[in-house]
Formats: sequence, structure tokens, C-alpha cells
Amino acid sequence: MQAMVLKALRTPLEWTTLPDRQPGPGQIRVKVSACGVCRTDLHVIDGDLPDPQLPIIPGHEIVGRIDAIGSGVDGLKMGDRVGIPWLGHTCGTCPYCRMQRENLCDHPEFTGFTRDGGFATATIADARFAFTLGEAGSDVSLAPLLCAGLIGWRSLVIAGAGKKLGLYGFGAAAHIIAQVALWQGRSIFAFTKPGDTVTQDFARSLGAIWAGGSDEAPPELLDAAIIFATVGALVPLGLRAVRKGGTVVCAGIHMSDLPSFPYGLLWEERQLLSVANLTRQDGIDFLRQVPDMGIVTHTTTYRLEEANQALADLRAGRFDGAAVLVP
Ligand SMILES: [Zn+2]
Ligand SMILES: [Zn+2]
Repeated sequence: MQAMVLKALRTPLEWTTLPDRQPGPGQIRVKVSACGVCRTDLHVIDGDLPDPQLPIIPGHEIVGRIDAIGSGVDGLKMGDRVGIPWLGHTCGTCPYCRMQRENLCDHPEFTGFTRDGGFATATIADARFAFTLGEAGSDVSLAPLLCAGLIGWRSLVIAGAGKKLGLYGFGAAAHIIAQVALWQGRSIFAFTKPGDTVTQDFARSLGAIWAGGSDEAPPELLDAAIIFATVGALVPLGLRAVRKGGTVVCAGIHMSDLPSFPYGLLWEERQLLSVANLTRQDGIDFLRQVPDMGIVTHTTTYRLEEANQALADLRAGRFDGAAVLVP
């Protein structure tokens, strides 16, 4: 197998040939056909996340087909198309796993961070954490749903049922969740970097009722806002944009420090929450509805060996939507 491997933090991934791997008990081997590139991959490479394990193959938005099955795997067969997300394994016994909050597991494994991911021609996954994807939709179009879609979905659910929804940072996740929220009958207010009229136009083209800079106030108070950008200074701006009792959800795994702000922004039962990881139930709930939602993912594809270019383009904001690597 070939892979783009992170051998040291803050260095380019290296094209590497590795011995083919065999799935152990409860595992599947997946021939990767597409793997999305997520901002979390940048955090892994930059060393922003605790306890990095190196060398590691990044990538946690994997679409592929099963080409080997370990012992004791139920419900999956050779050739099935599956998606492998960020949550790669949980312990099943800690208090969080037992209270149906496995996203907070005390002993988790994360695809592309603590276990090898999908910037590769093949990967090994815990079969219980892979989602069957069926045959509708192309591999490339589905890949961004495995994290941008799933974490976005969890954020949307936690944001509540309010009709007027703000999205701060209009990248891969927001462009998917905007479509989901519109399908649900909500109104979207898109906030981008000030002056980024290209992305504001992109948001309007997807159906946003309003798009502007994050330094602007929306034309009316919002019921909820989801912050996908990694900028802590957006938190007080989001709180300022929501009504009494409104909710602000921070969806990123990493964020710059929050500035101090007047308590008045939180007062009147506004809520500020973060979203961590996903549960398998999130994936089941989201992916079951995907065929009805009519989501069109906007993707820029790169060859697997171009992963460093894809990451650089993501960092620089050179594309709208999501980048996807194809082996
Ligand atoms: Zn991700
Ligand atoms: Zn656990």
C-alpha cells in the first residue's frame, strides 16, 4: 500500500510505500477510493492537538470498499462501500460510553490522528465504527459528509430547532449544513472573513438569505449560530447576533483563545456550547437522511500524492467547499 505519512509535526507528508496490512479480529480492510481533507488534518499536522502519535497517516473522511474482513465481523461483506469517520474506536465501558455519549469516551481512538487514516490506498478500520453507504452518490461527493457533514450535523442538532441560523466560517462543513438546514425549512445567515465576497456569493448561491463579513451584524437577531471557523474572537460576535435564549455552538476541535467579553452577551439565557467528535448514532441519523436531503457537495479533487498541495490550499482558503484526495 501507498500512503502520505506525517513523520514529524509541521513537516510535509511523505509519499511512502508500506507493507499491505491484514485486518485483525473485528476489523475490515478498505480499499480507499476517496478521502476528504479536513481542517482537523491541519491541526494534527501543526501539533495543535494533545498527544500526537507519529508516524501517522492522516485523513478521516474515508470512502472505500471492503477488500478483506477479519474474524468476528457481522453485517458487512466484501465489496460493500463504507465510510470511515473520525471516531475510530471507543472503549464501551467508561461512564461516557455507558451514558450514550461515546463521543466523549475516556479511551477513544481517532482515525487519522491516533490510528492510521485514509490518505492512503488502503486502511484498516474497526468494523463497528464504519458506516455502510449504499450505492447512491459518487465516492468523491460522499467523502466530505464523513466529517464536515457529520460534525456539522451534530452541531446543527445541538443548536436546536430555531429557524434563523447563523454559520460563521463558510467552508466544507457550513456548505453542507446550510443545505441540510435549508432542506429543514430554516433560513441561513452566512458569515465569512470580512471582504471575502467570493465566499459570500457562494453562500448565497446555495440559498443563504444573507451573507456578510463576520464583523457585520445580521439584519435580524438569530435563533442560533454555529461557529465553524477556528477564531475565538467570533464567540462574542456570535453571542451578540443571537436573541434572548439563543444558542452559540463552537464546532471546531481547536480554536484560538476567546477574548474577554461583557457578561451581558451571555445574559438572558443565551447558551454557549462546544461539540466534540461524533457518536455512531449521529452518523446513522444523518446518513439515513442524506438521500432525501439532496446535498450537493462542492469538491476540489487532488491525487493522493498531491495531499500537501490540498492541505496548503485549504490553509490558504483557495477553494470553496471541500478538498478530496483520490488514490
Ligand atoms: Zn474532520
Ligand atoms: Zn469509553
